[in-house]
Order: sequence, then C-alpha cells, then structure tokens
Amino acid sequence: LIEIKHISKKFGDLTVLKDISLKVKEKEVVVIIGPSGSGKSTLLRCINGLETPTSGAIFFDGLEVNGEKNINYVRTEVGMVFQRFNLFPHMTVLQNLMLAPMKVRKISSDEAKERGMLLLKKVGLADKADYKPAQLSGGQQQRVAIARALAMKPKALLFDEPTSALDPEMVHEVLDVMKEVAEEGMTMVVVTHEMGFAREVGSRVVFIDQGVTVEEGTPEDVFNHTKEDRTKEFLSQVL
Ligand code: ATP
Ligand code: MG
Repeated sequence: LIEIKHISKKFGDLTVLKDISLKVKEKEVVVIIGPSGSGKSTLLRCINGLETPTSGAIFFDGLEVNGEKNINYVRTEVGMVFQRFNLFPHMTVLQNLMLAPMKVRKISSDEAKERGMLLLKKVGLADKADYKPAQLSGGQQQRVAIARALAMKPKALLFDEPTSALDPEMVHEVLDVMKEVAEEGMTMVVVTHEMGFAREVGSRVVFIDQGVTVEEGTPEDVFNHTKEDRTKEFLSQVL
C-alpha cells in the first residue's frame, strides 16, 4: 500500500533522511523506533505529503505522493494522529468527527453524526459527544483524535508518538484503542517509544538512527535477536 523508494531529505545543509526504503503492505503495522532527531517525524510527514523528499519517491496505492494531483487523494486516504491532539477547540467532540467526512467525503450530516457516534462508542467516549476538547483529559482527547481520523475511513493511519504527551496513566487507554484498530486490519505506521506496543502489535519494527535505516525485522528479530550494535545500544536505553 505504501512504498518508499530511496528517499533522502535535506533541510539546507542538514541531511535528515538518507536513502530510506520501506514497503508497507495492507494490514501491516510498521513501528518506527529511534532516538530523538533521527528523522522519524520527517519520514512520516513525507508519507502523507507534508514534506517533499529531496530525492527518491513515495508511492501510496500506486500513486506517487507528490505534485498537485495526488496529494488530495493521499491526504483523504491517509489519516494522521499527532503527539498533540490537534482537535478543533471551538467545536464539540462530535462536531470534530463530523467535519472532514462531510466536507471531503460529502456524506450527509445525519450519516456523519451516526458514524461519529459509532466511533465514539468504539473509543469509549459516547457520553462525551457534546463536550469541548478542553473539557477532556489528554488520553480522552487522543482517543477522540483517533476516532476523528477513523471517521474518514482512511486506507492507512500514521501515528507520530501518539502517547508521548500523555500522563503515564493515560498511555494505556490510547494504546488499547490503537491495538484494536490494528486488529481490525488497519494499515498503520507508528512512531513510538512504547516498546511493549511495538513487540505486541507490530508486524515489523524499523530502527532509524541519524536518518538511516539501521535495522528492520519482525519484533522478535529486532528485540530478541538484535544484529546491530547501534540498535542494541538504543534498546538498552529505552527498555
Ligand atoms: P523526535 O523523536 O525528537 O520527535 P524525530 O526522529 O522525529 O525526533 P525529526 O523531527 O524528523 O526527528 O527531525 C530530524 C532532524 O531534522 C532534526 O535535526 C530536526 O531539527 C530537523 N528538522 C525537522 N524539520 C525541520 C525543518 N522544517 N527545517 C529544518 N530542520 C528540520
Ligand atoms: Mg518526532
């Protein structure tokens, strides 16, 4: 579904990604791990066209992610959940879920409302439909953000450290929702420091350091049969 072919990304003189290639098949959950500043967010942002690689190409669903034409398709079909929840603060929770499907997918407000309520139920927040985001906890807001992404019925979801802005006691509720979404067959690319999630839910784990893919494999490969010294060193710091 996603194919990254030899991309590099520079910001001025700074090379942030160097010759990264990665394929993500349908229903796979690829977990990207690596130290701060290694280029993880930049890589995710390239996938949905928020950044353009300096060289190389990215294909989503067979279409190159680039240029005017395909970018709207990619943004419609690829949802993104960020570290900070980015909900629209002046709207209710339910309105947050209804907006994009009505505007972009052109569904009726009745249908958007029905879909929104169903998703809120799924993430355990049906009783908060009429609240404003600021009235919710961080974990609840992040679950709304995931529900909002799902409301578009995307083909893939990208997560950029979705739990790292949360208080520890709220991390679990968000990871549980992500796990459920994965089990339902969503294609996901997840940047996270939650190694338990990577191990349990990841189809594949990719370790990136200084813009380079150092090691890639199943969770079993990467965590239990680590090949590279840099990966071992990183894992010893985070596990
Ligand atoms: P973290 O774990 O801290 O989120 P990361 O792996 O996501 O780190 P990136 O945010 O991708 O890292 O950043 C990689 C490098 O690129 C950093 O050195 C960062 O300063 C630089 N960088 C990112 N975005 C830009 C930008 N728009 N302009 C210039 N430099 C940037
Ligand atoms: Mg980042």
